[in-house]
Amino acid sequence: MKDEVWKIAQEIKPEITEIRRQIHMNPELGFEEKETSELVVKKLKELGIELKANVAKYGVIALIKGEAGEGPTIGIRADMDALALQEENDVPYKSKIDGKMHACGHDAHTAILIGVAKILVKLKGKIKGNVKLFFQPAEEGLGGAKPMVEAGALKNPDVSAVIALHVDTDTQVGTIQVKDGSLTASADEFWIDIVGKGGHAAYPHETKDSIFIGSHLVNTIQTIASRNTDPVYPVVVTVGTFHAGSAFNIIPETARLTGTIRALLPKVRDETHEHLQRIVKGTEEMFDVKISLGIKRGYAPGINDAGLNIILKDAANELIGTENVIEAEYPGMGAEDFFDFSDNYRLPVTMFWLGSGNKEKGIIAPGHNPKFDIDEDALPIGSSILALTAIKYLNK
Ligand SMILES: [Zn+2]
Ligand SMILES: [Zn+2]
Repeated sequence: MKDEVWKIAQEIKPEITEIRRQIHMNPELGFEEKETSELVVKKLKELGIELKANVAKYGVIALIKGEAGEGPTIGIRADMDALALQEENDVPYKSKIDGKMHACGHDAHTAILIGVAKILVKLKGKIKGNVKLFFQPAEEGLGGAKPMVEAGALKNPDVSAVIALHVDTDTQVGTIQVKDGSLTASADEFWIDIVGKGGHAAYPHETKDSIFIGSHLVNTIQTIASRNTDPVYPVVVTVGTFHAGSAFNIIPETARLTGTIRALLPKVRDETHEHLQRIVKGTEEMFDVKISLGIKRGYAPGINDAGLNIILKDAANELIGTENVIEAEYPGMGAEDFFDFSDNYRLPVTMFWLGSGNKEKGIIAPGHNPKFDIDEDALPIGSSILALTAIKYLNK
């Protein structure tokens, strides 16, 4: 099976490269992926695949039925949205839209998944069960995965595992990085409003200085990571904005802080919320002021299933050689909404890093950078690993 998958992947390379470039030239932001979604639908219809479009705005769900007998259903996910960024690459497929760019490689993810469809359609006579393809909108902060799940993406037929990849320019093309367990962090937003008592800068004793109290909070918040959390469990609390004051000789009445909370474990995430609440409450008492705290839960921590990874590594070892399948040592504190496809950790899911950098060719810019690009040799590798993993999962 491995040889057949690899052969088809290489045959379709020019076409999926073309698709990637077309999407790259026409980037669309989250929940605006109309043309990208139409292109996906067109390509899937050419293959005669059953599909549902406009799920959670521009999401597409396709179903490929294996013809070698009954079996489970595995999902494979790609995201389609671009970033609000001006591209600085001088390439023939440079973004045609000012201020928008595929700087996270979701153009590649979409093209790779169309490649997976092409491979699986050719081999469906040898596949048991089904493969569902999820083309999701709005990964970059807006959370397009959840509404797709809520719209029933994981049902009818019921999906029992979901896999995905993310391009990574830190990883050399031809290799991949796989990791069991923690891969990405949760990303929650918080805001703190302090209402003190304003007054003359020369008479601090008659005021309740919201800047001083805010500064105290900025410092104290750092004790969550340094003194409240077991150091072996990473957590980040970053204050990103601090707004207060209007003049050099006035003590301002109010101040507002906003920030983000990142954690790798659901338990640490919840405890961090509690610690933050306690610190805010304590500060309120200590300075006799009103402080309100709001927390908006964003993406959940990403946890890869070790059992699924065994199948994934097996497929990747066969396709690119064991020496090119690297076990990633550490997770990162970035976040990914792919993990919403686990339906709150009910289903095993896994995401791997697809090597797409190339030091010799100078393709080294990281994601979200105006010079971000990928080595397109990664495209057929991505398609073949996802396709073979799905086949192995279904035929096991
Ligand atoms: Zn991104
Ligand atoms: Zn991304």
